[in-house]
Amino acid sequence: TSEKETLGFQTEVKQLLNLMIHSLYSNKEIFLRELVSNASDAADKLRFLALENDSLYEGDADLKVRISANKDKKTVTISDNGIGMNRDEVVSALGTIAKSGTAEFFQNLTGDKAKDSQLIGQFGVGFYSAFIVADEVTVRTRKADESQAVEWQSKGEGEYTLANIDKPSRGTEIILHLRDDETEFLDDFRLRGIVTKYSDHISIPVEMYREPVPESEGPDGEKIEAKPGEWEAINKAEALWTRDKSEISDEEYQEFYKHVGHDWEEPLTWAHNKVEGKTEYTSLLYIPKRAPFDLYNRDRQNGLKLYVQRVFIMDDAEQFMPGYLRFVKGLLDSNDLPLNVSREILQDNKVTQAIRKGCTSRVLKMLDRMGKNKPEQYQTFWNEFGGVIKEGPAEDMANKEAIAKLLRFASTHSDEATQNVSLEQYIERMDEGQDKIYYVVADSFEAAKNSPHLEIFRKKGIEVLLLSDRVDEWMMSHLTEFQEKQFQSITRGDLDLGDLDDEESKKAQEESEKEVAGLLERIKEVLSDKVKEVRFTHRLTDSPACVVADENDMSSQMIKLMESVGQ
Ligand code: ADP
Ligand code: MG
Repeated sequence: TSEKETLGFQTEVKQLLNLMIHSLYSNKEIFLRELVSNASDAADKLRFLALENDSLYEGDADLKVRISANKDKKTVTISDNGIGMNRDEVVSALGTIAKSGTAEFFQNLTGDKAKDSQLIGQFGVGFYSAFIVADEVTVRTRKADESQAVEWQSKGEGEYTLANIDKPSRGTEIILHLRDDETEFLDDFRLRGIVTKYSDHISIPVEMYREPVPESEGPDGEKIEAKPGEWEAINKAEALWTRDKSEISDEEYQEFYKHVGHDWEEPLTWAHNKVEGKTEYTSLLYIPKRAPFDLYNRDRQNGLKLYVQRVFIMDDAEQFMPGYLRFVKGLLDSNDLPLNVSREILQDNKVTQAIRKGCTSRVLKMLDRMGKNKPEQYQTFWNEFGGVIKEGPAEDMANKEAIAKLLRFASTHSDEATQNVSLEQYIERMDEGQDKIYYVVADSFEAAKNSPHLEIFRKKGIEVLLLSDRVDEWMMSHLTEFQEKQFQSITRGDLDLGDLDDEESKKAQEESEKEVAGLLERIKEVLSDKVKEVRFTHRLTDSPACVVADENDMSSQMIKLMESVGQ
C-alpha cells in the first residue's frame, strides 16, 4: 500500500503561511533562494554524515542542485541529491515549526500584518515561502541509505497528504505548481537571473539545463559548431568565506547571511577574518538587526556554524561564543580541528579556547567600532541586545573593560529613558574634583528618575546614571571601576561626595546634625523593629526622608530578582 494519509499543519504554520503570503508579495522571487538554501544545507548534512559512512553517497558523491521549468505543466522543480528525509522527518520539518516557545510567541502577534511580518522574520522564511508563488507544492524525497521514499503534497491551506512512493535517486525534489499570475518564473532567463542574484555564494553547483545549439553560420559566414544540450552550473559554487574579502560585495555578504542565519532581514554588520599562525581559522561573524523572540530562553540553540577544512560539521556550535554574545551568527572554518570533532571534544579543547578568545575580541572590537563610527546603528543594536551585553561583566572578567565600553545608560544628563550614554561620555562630562561614576538602580525608569537620592546631585549638577533593567543591579555588582573611576551607588550607605562638597556647607551640615540629634533618637525608637538605623543626611534637598540600603545589604531590586528566580 502507499499508506496515504492526510495531516493538518500545526496552527503556527497556518499563521506563518498566511502572513508570509500576504507580506512578501513584493519580493516573491526569494522562494528560490530559500529552496536552494535548503538544498545546500541538505548537501552539507550528507557530506558530514558520509565522513563516517561512505556508503551514504550510494556511489554518487557529486552533490548539486538542479532547477528546471515545465511550461506546459506550469511547474518549477528544484531537485537535490543531498541527505533527503524519511516520513517522520517530513512530518516534523514540513508540518511544524520546531522551536520551543513558538506557540506563545504566535499568541502574542498583534494582528497588524506589517508589524507581525517583521516579528515573524526571525523565523526565517524557509520552505513555506514556496506557497508565495505556488498553489500546490509536491515534495518527493528519499533519505540516504533508506529504501522507502515519500511524497508530501499540499495546497498550503491547512493540511497536507503523505504517501509512500518509488524514488530511485537519493535526495529531495520539490515541484511547485505556479499560481496563474506567477508564470513569469517559468522563464529560463528570469530563473537564471534569480539564481545568480541570490545563490552565487552557495558552495555546491546550482545547475540549469542549456538547450542544444544546432550547427549554424555566423554573421560573417563563419561556422558555429553544434553544442549538445547539457546541465551547467550558473553560480560560482565557491564557499563565500574562502574567497578574498576584497572580491566580495556587501550584497553577497548580506545574501550569505540570510542563508547561514536563517533570517529574512539584512544583518546590521559583519566581520570576515582569516587568522593565520598557531591556530588557523576563518571566521565570518554577523550581528543581526533584530533580537529573536527567545533570546532569553535557556533551551534556545545558538552558536556558529562549524566547518573543518571547508566541510560542514555542525550547526549551533555554542562553544565559540560566550553567552553574552549568543546573538552573533555566522560561521567558523578551522584548519586545526579534526574532521571527526564532536561537541564533547569541542568542550574541553585548546583549539576551541583559542578560537573563542579570538572571536570574542573580534566581536567586541566590531561593536566598539560601530559605537564610535555609527552611533545610530549602534543604538539599534543596543536597544535589541543591550540586555544580553549586560550579562558580560559577570561572565567575562578578562574583557570587563572592553564590555564596559559598550554599555549605554539612561542618565540625568537628558533624563530620557533611552539608554544612550556611554561611560566614556560620562567621564568626559565629569566635573573636576569628581572621582566616581554615580548611579542609581530602581525598579523602573520613572522610579530611578524621581529618586529622592538624586536631589543633591541635581542641585550640584552632577550627572547620575539611571538604571532600571532587571539585570542592572547584578551587572553593577560585577563592575567596580571603569578607566580607574569607581562606580558608586547613590542609594547606598554613607555617601561621601568628597571634593565636591565645599568646606562651608560641610560646617553647616555638622551644625544642623547636632540640632536634630534628639529627633533621630526618637524616630529610631518608634521604628526600632523596622529599620537598622536612622541617620541624618544632607543628600536630600526637597524630600524630608528616604529609605536606603546598607552598604552590604541587598537592594530592593536584587531582592525582587532573587524572588523571581525562586530564591
Ligand atoms: P530552515 O532551513 O531554517 O531549517 P526551512 O523551512 O527552510 O527552515 O526548512 C525546514 C526543514 O525542512 C529543514 O530544516 C530541513 O530539515 C527540511 N528540509 C527542507 N528542504 C530540504 C531538502 N531539500 N532536503 C532535506 N531536508 C530539507
Ligand atoms: Mg531553510
